[in-house]
Amino acid sequence: MNLDQIELHPVKVPLVTRFRRVDWREAVLIRGPEGWGEFSPFPDYPPETTSRWLAAALEAACTPWPRPGRTHVEVNTTIPAVEPERAAEMAAASGCRTAKVKVAEPGCDFDLDLARVAAVREALGPNGRLRIDVNGAWEVDDAVERIRVLARYDLEYVEQPVSTIPEMVEVRKRVGVPIAADESIRRAADPLEVVTAGAADVLVLKPQPLGGWRRLVSIARRTETPVVVSSALETSVGLAAAVYAAASLDELPYAAGLGTATLLAGDVTSQPLVPVGGMVEVRRPVPDLVDRWEADRETASRLLERLRRAAELLT
Ligand SMILES: [Mg+2]
Repeated sequence: MNLDQIELHPVKVPLVTRFRRVDWREAVLIRGPEGWGEFSPFPDYPPETTSRWLAAALEAACTPWPRPGRTHVEVNTTIPAVEPERAAEMAAASGCRTAKVKVAEPGCDFDLDLARVAAVREALGPNGRLRIDVNGAWEVDDAVERIRVLARYDLEYVEQPVSTIPEMVEVRKRVGVPIAADESIRRAADPLEVVTAGAADVLVLKPQPLGGWRRLVSIARRTETPVVVSSALETSVGLAAAVYAAASLDELPYAAGLGTATLLAGDVTSQPLVPVGGMVEVRRPVPDLVDRWEADRETASRLLERLRRAAELLT
């Protein structure tokens, strides 16, 4: 990595609701010759993983961007593990036709998950599309039983109901609802192993974990299995790269998981990539509020250390 070419800006932005056990989203924004990129791996990820996230950030900052094939991308709204009434309000207020409901969060039992899914289905109406994300938290038998119960709410798909690829194959054989793979893709050496194993009907692809939008687009082009381009809860800088990746694909049969800017209580731009009428515009926002969300010294040095360790593993 040529450090002379780039500037590093550690930032920390607040989340509306706790997500993946974090209340803040921390990132290093990288300014390079082709604009801004974002390095924002989740706190528990090791350098072997975060080096791919860094590759994505450097690709965005230092290489030309794709010419998008669309002006807007349809997105889902993401409903965190909140109380049912709040979930319904969020779904209704989003303006999105598709909602993804988080379930199986730590400390949240299945009855509450069920009530949240029911409330969101009610808010969306019968024509809305509804998907759930389990983040691999269920065991196989529980997953099968729960998906059968949840199927009454007409699920578009269930994302990562169980943890491993063999478990995904097993669940997929035993339920009628389509299964989407997320964690199984980025943990595997070959991101298309889920397809060859018969573990998924839908692939959730995210540029940062895959090492950038180029790799995402090339993976999507190597398979017939439909793809849902999604964010990793980035600021609008990182989100822009994912939006461009989605806009570069020939077909988008499902709403993309790119409506996540609304989950941030602050963003690094005054023109965040929030959905309007269920669509996100394909553009690169100018990060004019980087100074406002500058990370405190301790956070900044921790983030820069993570970046340095990730960079050591980049070839
Ligand atoms: Mg997921």
